[in-house]
Amino acid sequence: MTNFAGAMDDIVHNLKVVHQRIENACKKFGRNPADVRLLLATKTVDPEIIRIAVEAGEKLIGENKVQELKDKDEVLSKLNIERHFIGHLQTNKIKEVIKYADCIQSLDRIDVAEQLDRRLQNLAKSIDIFVQINTSNEERKFGIPPERAISFIKELKPFETLKVRGLMTIGLLDSDFEVMRPCLKLLKKTRDNVLNQGIEGIDSLMLSMGMSHDIEIAIEEGTNMVRVGSAIFGNRIPGNQVWH
Ligand SMILES: *Cc1c(COP(=O)(O)O)cnc(C)c1O
Repeated sequence: MTNFAGAMDDIVHNLKVVHQRIENACKKFGRNPADVRLLLATKTVDPEIIRIAVEAGEKLIGENKVQELKDKDEVLSKLNIERHFIGHLQTNKIKEVIKYADCIQSLDRIDVAEQLDRRLQNLAKSIDIFVQINTSNEERKFGIPPERAISFIKELKPFETLKVRGLMTIGLLDSDFEVMRPCLKLLKKTRDNVLNQGIEGIDSLMLSMGMSHDIEIAIEEGTNMVRVGSAIFGNRIPGNQVWH
């Protein structure tokens, strides 16, 4: 059983702390707080707990599994929020993800883009997209290599239902949070390279980067959206450390 009353105090407190961290870092690094959005990473979090965060003023949540988006839909669909999909998207989930998500942050395959576009065309809908970039050069990580970003985004052009809004990365996870910095720098550089191409329809791109432990570094390196889970909802139970 979840103790909602106790959880409520904790979450409202944790949200304040996270917003204060964002504000302080923006001040320190000369960033406009309006350019840094907070997305709640809500994997494994009970929808009633998410509701508490939303009632405290949050507008943006991200889930890693389509099944969880579906299971939480009854509660989440009634809230005035944007739901982002931030996990690895399997082709057999494409049909469902577009029912529940307003934005997919993990696009890294053209065949997936093609199938998304085909289904969205049929529904006369469009969806926001972030292209996931592998900035840590690890084989097992999802995302396209940074040097492929320009060609990948050009290849997305025919898919008119996919509105490319930004780039997302996870980066290198290490107990030394500074290890993350080169990954964040690389995402920004990749974004600048793409924008320098002057691709039609791509006038700006948001950067989705930074998590609980590296909010400040991400703000310093130019993030527009930090994805924060454990700093708000507490540590996840082992086996649920889904990073991809
Ligand atoms: C879980 C998760 C986060 C949040 O990580 P925390 O360290 O709990 O803040 C961010 N992005 C993705 C893709 C995640 O899976």
